[in-house]
Amino acid sequence: MTAPTAGVPTRTPAAVLAAAADAGATVVLSGHVQPDADALGSTLALAEGLRRRGARVTATFPGRPVLPDSLGWLPGAEGLVPSTAVPTSPDVFVSLDAASPGRLGELAALLGDAGTSVVVDHHASNPGFGDVRLVDPTSPATVVLVAGLLDELGVDLDAHLATLLYAGLAADTGSFRFSSTRPDTHELAARLLSTGIDHAAVSQRLFDTAPFGWLRLLSAVAGRAVLEPGVGAGLVWTWSSTAEAGEHGLPGEQLEALVDVVRATAEADVACVLKGQDDGSWSVSLRSRGDTDVARVAMALGGGGHRGAAGFTSHLDREGTVEAIRELLARR
Ligand code: AMP
Ligand code: MN
Ligand code: MN
Repeated sequence: MTAPTAGVPTRTPAAVLAAAADAGATVVLSGHVQPDADALGSTLALAEGLRRRGARVTATFPGRPVLPDSLGWLPGAEGLVPSTAVPTSPDVFVSLDAASPGRLGELAALLGDAGTSVVVDHHASNPGFGDVRLVDPTSPATVVLVAGLLDELGVDLDAHLATLLYAGLAADTGSFRFSSTRPDTHELAARLLSTGIDHAAVSQRLFDTAPFGWLRLLSAVAGRAVLEPGVGAGLVWTWSSTAEAGEHGLPGEQLEALVDVVRATAEADVACVLKGQDDGSWSVSLRSRGDTDVARVAMALGGGGHRGAAGFTSHLDREGTVEAIRELLARR
């Protein structure tokens, strides 16, 4: 780890990355576990940009080296390397869209083992880690920060890069519906579209494609939803599991989109979906319609996220997990 020395100007992420590219240095990049479009779009776009600038780049992600169908088509995804096969002491390690070292899984070791670690993130819960940081909680997506880095590196935005950046931007802004969307978000979107990308195909692959079994799963999960209007500003919650997804012929990642339906409930400011994992833990998604800071709740339970969208992992049973959420929501 390198600490800033008195009198030596603090290095910016762009300066570190430009120097690494100029030197042909080894750079490993990774997003968070169970990567989403922002994590992967950021990783693949910055990896491609650095590769074009001369760095020796390895892009990876933590956990099982298998991507959901919704993300496997991203340009360059075929070049992703399993986390077990990356250089263990690269010159530079870049963490993207990870709110904490724990979200990097087994790759967190690289934060200390790399010559320099660079953290690029937009989570309000980010505690500040890594040697050099670009952490901006006002940014609607990590890909926005990556677009800025690519500009600083002098990399031209072509359709390949724009597709990756647009995927992350559309995903994290809820297709520009969430309050994090700003005028300059649309300006970036305009820049990306002007490269000629097929944005409708990107959105359809990301948001509007699921096997028929998903309808049956949704029916079961929506059918058991519980509305508790008296908890905080109202709570709606439901649950499923990777095992239940399997019963409908679906991989576990098909549980992720359920919360986007549940969060439409007008009577509840907070929506919660508990997703039972293979190891018996619950992966919990929280969403707010605007009045509740769900990052506060998730952080109190060991997770993190944003004011309007956050998550944590629970090792309590189902009722214990919901009770912990109720208690925190009651204490507003
Ligand atoms: P999800 O409900 O999994 O879509 O996550 C919503 C937001 O919370 C995303 O920005 C995640 O990065 C963040 N998040 C989810 N789970 C965790 C966790 N265990 N620790 C920190 N942040 C999390
Ligand atoms: Mn993410
Ligand atoms: Mn993100």
